[in-house]
Amino acid sequence: MTERVFNFAAGPSMLPEEVLQRAGSEIMNYQGTGMSVMEMSHRSPMFQKIFDHTKQQFIELMHVPDTHEVLFMQGGGSTQFSCVPLNFISASGKADYAVTGNFSGIAAKEAKKYGSIHLSYDGTQEGFTRIPSQKELQLDPEASYFHYCANNTIYGTEWQYVPDTGNVPLVCDMSSDITSRTVDISRYALIYAGAQKNMAPAGVTVVIIRKDMAGHPLPITPLMMNYETMIKKDSMYNTPPCWQIYMLGLTMDWLAEQGGVEGMEKKKHAKAQLLYDALENSTLFRLHADRDSRSDMNVTFRTGSDELDQKFVAEAAAQGLVSLKGHRLTGGMRASIYNAMPMEGAEKLREFILQFDKENR
Ligand SMILES: *Cc1c(COP(=O)(O)O)cnc(C)c1O
Repeated sequence: MTERVFNFAAGPSMLPEEVLQRAGSEIMNYQGTGMSVMEMSHRSPMFQKIFDHTKQQFIELMHVPDTHEVLFMQGGGSTQFSCVPLNFISASGKADYAVTGNFSGIAAKEAKKYGSIHLSYDGTQEGFTRIPSQKELQLDPEASYFHYCANNTIYGTEWQYVPDTGNVPLVCDMSSDITSRTVDISRYALIYAGAQKNMAPAGVTVVIIRKDMAGHPLPITPLMMNYETMIKKDSMYNTPPCWQIYMLGLTMDWLAEQGGVEGMEKKKHAKAQLLYDALENSTLFRLHADRDSRSDMNVTFRTGSDELDQKFVAEAAAQGLVSLKGHRLTGGMRASIYNAMPMEGAEKLREFILQFDKENR
C-alpha cells in the first residue's frame, strides 16, 4: 500500500484519518450487529440511534437553536439551488442574489425559473477576486430572501461578515466552509451544505432551516424537495443516505475531540496564513483573491506561466502533495485546506512553495 498523501482536493476531499480508521474497523460488523451500516434498514432501531447521534452532535457543535431544524437531504448543494426558490419565493415572487463566484451564479440562474431574481451584487466583470462590502449590496426590501455563498470554493474568496438584510430572510450556501468557523445560526432563515468538502463523503446535504420558513412551497415543488416533508418526517420520508449520515456522525465525534467548531476556527486561520505568507513573500506567485476577501479554506494562486503552474503541480504531487491543480475556470493552483487537512500538510506545502520559488525564479 502506498502511504497516504496530503490531498488538497476541493471536494470530495480529505477526511480525518481517525474517521476512516473507525469506519474501516466497523465495516463488516457494526457494534455486534453482524452487519455493516451500509446493509442496515433505515427503520431499524440501530440506524435510528446512529441518525439521532449524528443530528444531535451536529446541533451541539454548530449551536443550532430550537427555532431551527436540521435536515439531511440528497442531491448535493446543487439541488438546494432549486429547493430554495421552490420553497421560499412565494412570499413576494422576488429574491435577491449576491453572485460572488461560480456556484452562487448557478444558484441565481436556477432561481430565475421560479421567480424574479435581482442580483444584489455581481462580481463577474471583476473575475470574482473579492467579496462586496455591505454598502455595495443592492438590497430589495421586498425580496422573499437574500441568497449568498459564504465561501467561493473555486475562486478562493470568503465572506468575512454576515450581510445585514434587515427583515429579508438570509439564505446561505456554506458547502465549503461549514464547521470551520462559528456561525450565529439565529441570523439565518436557511443554511445548506453538501457534505463532501468538510464533513463526510458525497451524498448527504445538511440543511439548517428556521422552522417558520417552511410551509409555503410553490405548488409545483417536488415532494422530495419540499422542506415541510423533510421536517415532518425527520429527513426519513424515504431511504436517507444512511452511510453518509453515519460517516458525518463519525466526523462530528472527531470534531468534538478537536475542540469543536471553535477549535477548528482557531486552527484554520493559522493553517491558511502559513500558505498566504509564503505566497505573498515569493517572487513567483500571485494570489487570485484580494487580501480582505481571502478564503481560509481554498487558497488560489498562480505563477503567470501555464508551464510553470503545471511543473508546480507535478513536482508537488511527486512529494505527496496532491490535487493542487486549480479549477478550469481560474487555472493556476488551488490548495484546499479543510478541517481534515493537518497543520503538517500545510507546513509541507509551505516548504514546497518556498523551495519552488527559489528554484524557478
Ligand atoms: C461544491 C459546491 C457546490 C456543489 O455541490 P454539489 O454537492 O456537487 O452539488 C455548491 N456550492 C459550493 C459553495 C460548493 O463548494
